[in-house]
Amino acid sequence: MAGDGGDGGADVVLVGSGIMSATLAVVLRGLDPGLSIRLFEAGPELARESSAGWHNAGTGHAGICELSYTPSRAADGTIDVHRALVIGRRFAHSLQFWGHAVASGILPRPAAFIHAVPHVTFVTGQPDADFLRDRHAAMVGHPLFAALAFTTDPRRILALAPLVMEGRRPGPVAASWMDAGTEIDYGRLARGLLGWLGGQPGCSVETGRRVHAVTRRGAGWDLRVGRADGTVEQIGARFVFLGAGGGTLPLVQSAGLAAARGFAGFPIGGQWLVCDRADLAARHPLKVYGGTPPSAPSLGGPHLDLRRLEGRESLLFGPFASWTTRFLRDQGRLTDLPRSIRPANVGTLLRTGMRNLGLVRYLVGQGLQRMGHRLSALREFYPLARAEDWRLVEAGIRVQTLKPADRGRVTYGTEVLTAPDNTLAALLGASPGASVSVDVALQVVQRCFADRLASPAGRARMDEMIPTHATDLTEPTLARRAAPILARAAEHLGLPAPW
Ligand SMILES: Cc1cc2nc3c(=O)[nH]c(=O)nc-3n(C[C@H](O)[C@H](O)[C@H](O)COP(=O)(O)OP(=O)(O)OC[C@H]3O[C@@H](n4cnc5c(N)ncnc54)[C@H](O)[C@@H]3O)c2cc1C
Repeated sequence: MAGDGGDGGADVVLVGSGIMSATLAVVLRGLDPGLSIRLFEAGPELARESSAGWHNAGTGHAGICELSYTPSRAADGTIDVHRALVIGRRFAHSLQFWGHAVASGILPRPAAFIHAVPHVTFVTGQPDADFLRDRHAAMVGHPLFAALAFTTDPRRILALAPLVMEGRRPGPVAASWMDAGTEIDYGRLARGLLGWLGGQPGCSVETGRRVHAVTRRGAGWDLRVGRADGTVEQIGARFVFLGAGGGTLPLVQSAGLAAARGFAGFPIGGQWLVCDRADLAARHPLKVYGGTPPSAPSLGGPHLDLRRLEGRESLLFGPFASWTTRFLRDQGRLTDLPRSIRPANVGTLLRTGMRNLGLVRYLVGQGLQRMGHRLSALREFYPLARAEDWRLVEAGIRVQTLKPADRGRVTYGTEVLTAPDNTLAALLGASPGASVSVDVALQVVQRCFADRLASPAGRARMDEMIPTHATDLTEPTLARRAAPILARAAEHLGLPAPW
């Protein structure tokens, strides 16, 4: 595949410089070092929207601590751990690729973007403690979660998570945890990957370049790309990836993808309470997740997290939802939501609103809450928290994808859409998000670059980047066999062996 030439086109054009486009660009270049690649970012800097440090929680979601991934089966009350296993498998792909990137010099020293931070689930009350015990029993038999510990002993939990236990009224409590959790600065990781990509012959990474529309041209695509001086350039591409975060839906609409007909987007802003006291951060070297409010599954449960950003340790608590009509935090406009409404998707939006009045009420309530309400929520987690230690920070925006086929149900997850001829792929949705960016890249490769993946050279290169790309790690025997591969990746990243 040769570049389009003449119009400054390329084999591959990616829109957006967040973790998704950054990862796919480097995976594609690894798969075929002959590909010419151009990446356009609307903002003045790289990876400053949802992937930026404070705009997400930096959790390496691996299925360890998030209760929303392990629901009870309503019929018999047993716990369904399949989703946790799938997230564990997808995160294992990320660890392998990042380990490969460090070992091969693509990324700088791993401590610049990733640290080991235990992932803990903490619950109160007898029913939730019983649930956590059953969840632990259902998970610990699988190699991915063999190191998951569990206790109901308040003294052990006090030693593990003192801020969570000090000042708490007596009553049943339970915790489960694994030391091999991670804390990740996805913004730095994306910038590291793009720093390498921009230095490769035939590749470029360009800021201040907003893509206005994507339209068909012959066997490929035309992109209308703005310049800083206000002019617009027409650029051709054989393959396009729309990894523009909240900016993806309007571009998908401009491309007229049949697979996205009737799709709508609904933005949900996020906020954190942040504490900069190093002494408190030093007493909470953990990410502690609680139960998920049934009305807010996309936000997940509240969590109290250690963050290591820009060389400093802080604490983060949240998320709190906020009401917005922007699709991007900094690069978005208040008109994003109204401008995305079309005759084809207005029904999808209305049906979803009607069917999810509980979620609508929850969002309105979250939007109206004051600092006092947020501190009360924090004190349920950290009883002795003092108001003067905490400040409010605006996080990134998640644009929830609403689809006609869901008939008003809200489903959460990330979804790769492709053109029928696989010359364009787009990523919609943001959950579990950055943690599975490598698996998202793998899905795009499997669908859109299948010929290259099938070639002996391509297969060998993919085996090097993600050794278990074709292995189902949710299968216990296969997962056990892959342990040395994961241990090697962890070693490259300066992490303890994951299992
Ligand atoms: C509150 C919150 C907490 C989260 N916590 C976690 C977590 O703990 N762990 C986790 O794994 N994930 C988490 N996520 C999800 C994660 O942040 C996202 O899934 C991930 O960062 C998305 O990356 P992206 O590259 O798709 O988008 P982004 O990082 O948003 O990047 C998109 C880029 O595209 C650019 N762009 C947009 N439109 C255009 C255009 N037309 N032309 C050119 N450029 C354009 C934007 O400026 C931006 O730089 C969280 C998200 C939120 C909001």
